[in-house]
Amino acid sequence: MGKMRQDETSSATQGDRQIVALIERLSLLQPDSHYRDDSRGLYACRLALDALEQGNYGVAALLVDPQGNVVAQSENRVFSEDGHGRYHSHAHAEMLLVDQLEAGLVPYPTAKLTLLVTLEPCPMCLTRLLLSGIGSVRYMADDPQGGMLTHADKLPPAWRNLMQLQNHYKAHLSEPVRRLAGDIASAHQDVLRRKLLTYIRP
Ligand SMILES: [Zn+2]
Repeated sequence: MGKMRQDETSSATQGDRQIVALIERLSLLQPDSHYRDDSRGLYACRLALDALEQGNYGVAALLVDPQGNVVAQSENRVFSEDGHGRYHSHAHAEMLLVDQLEAGLVPYPTAKLTLLVTLEPCPMCLTRLLLSGIGSVRYMADDPQGGMLTHADKLPPAWRNLMQLQNHYKAHLSEPVRRLAGDIASAHQDVLRRKLLTYIRP
């Protein structure tokens, strides 16, 4: 019992240290004007860190209008969407942004919007995005373990057809910003996996 408590404490401390290090990296980075998504990408990283600090996956997304203005934003809320610490399997950053769109909270022609997300969308989010009407999707960090965009050729034919109606790009970023987005998204993986299993395999 005593040992377990000690392990939990040390893993919490390591997690805090990891967050502190990521916050420091973010604070030292300046957007490089040679890269069109660097400035908004750093802003998205700040939101992703906020999600991580609140015990969620470190992923965030923005909706951007053609002038480059951020018109909506969201963070992963899988473990805290309602503030009661319950589990919400759908509460990925992209899904929450599409929810805002469909609730009429983003007064802008959907086809002209670009979604910028800090991590390559998963299968659930990619298919929802294909149905959203959003014009373009740009993602910051690859997700070799869970990302679907790089495997879009494996989608069923009807979904592959929908792919043609939306533009998909890797965001235009300096390497340090891209790396930071990836490191925030993959932080606390062990803790979050254990937490996920307590909900789906209690
Ligand atoms: Zn997702």
